[in-house]
Amino acid sequence: MRRRGKGIGLLSGGLDSILAVKVLQEQPLELLGITFFTPFFGPEPGLKAGRMTGIPTRAVDIGPVFLEMLKNPPHGYGRHMNPCIDCHGLMLREAAGILAAEGADFLFTGEVVGQRPMSQRRAAMKIVEKMSGLSGRILRPLSAKLLEPTVVELEGIVEREKLLDLHGRGRKRQMELAARYGIRDFPQPGGGCMLTKEGFARKVKELLAMLPEADTGDVEWLKWGRHFRLGASCLLTVGRSKSENERLSAMARPGDVVLRVPSHPGPTGILFGKAKRRAHVHMASMIVAAYSDVALGERVEVHWRQGAEQGRIPVKNVGKEPWATRLL
Ligand code: SF4
Repeated sequence: MRRRGKGIGLLSGGLDSILAVKVLQEQPLELLGITFFTPFFGPEPGLKAGRMTGIPTRAVDIGPVFLEMLKNPPHGYGRHMNPCIDCHGLMLREAAGILAAEGADFLFTGEVVGQRPMSQRRAAMKIVEKMSGLSGRILRPLSAKLLEPTVVELEGIVEREKLLDLHGRGRKRQMELAARYGIRDFPQPGGGCMLTKEGFARKVKELLAMLPEADTGDVEWLKWGRHFRLGASCLLTVGRSKSENERLSAMARPGDVVLRVPSHPGPTGILFGKAKRRAHVHMASMIVAAYSDVALGERVEVHWRQGAEQGRIPVKNVGKEPWATRLL
């Protein structure tokens, strides 16, 4: 009797990864989903895909290793800061470790030949396969018939005849399959990756240029508030609403300087990077005062704390205009 194989799917949560599971569920296989997350994209869509298809799905944090790759991706960036080829290679490499630990036979993805200009060209697929160290064990069920048979197809663990031959950028066949499988309410491909958003990508680029040693915590600051450059390696995040201020205060790490104007409604500021205590904290205090309800020209005391240390700085509100050139 044919052995029941075990496959591990990389679930992005997009329609194609859901369809890849559905196509494989036409065969007697044991399937497990994994969905990676970083500060740039979360696990929710992949976990939802797992629920929709009924396969157990695990979220795996690859933030630190992803950020190191993002600083210098060997295959470059896409339109913005999205290093798609190296991202796929990294995910498959991480998944290869899970495959070994789980004793699974193959990995599978929802990739479709020729669908994305950067990462889903045949050549790029071969590159990422090589990067993963799993040549012959990565199955793309939606395009398998257009690709060389994988080891699991040759061994008969997966029936090649039941796989598909989708290619190109058209979505017609995917939509037909979605209707056939009764799949509705799926996210658009790539829509969840913040590195593909122009404004955020620009901020990430600046952050990495200013702070080459930036960690995932530094990236988190870019998601909230306004951002100012205060020096060669020092940045200030200023909350834009009560909820952002609360979030910023709660997220502060022991090395970050937290600033606020207790006497007036106004923002919370977080100074991070290589802050030179006097110069940068003073400048940050002036910016926090400028974005508070303190009247133009009025003097006010800004409070700061960094871990167990704290202090007060008297500043005059000179308005927002002088700081506009420092906005990221
Ligand atoms: S869009 Fe983002 S998550 Fe998707 S492959 Fe590219 S870098 Fe990775």
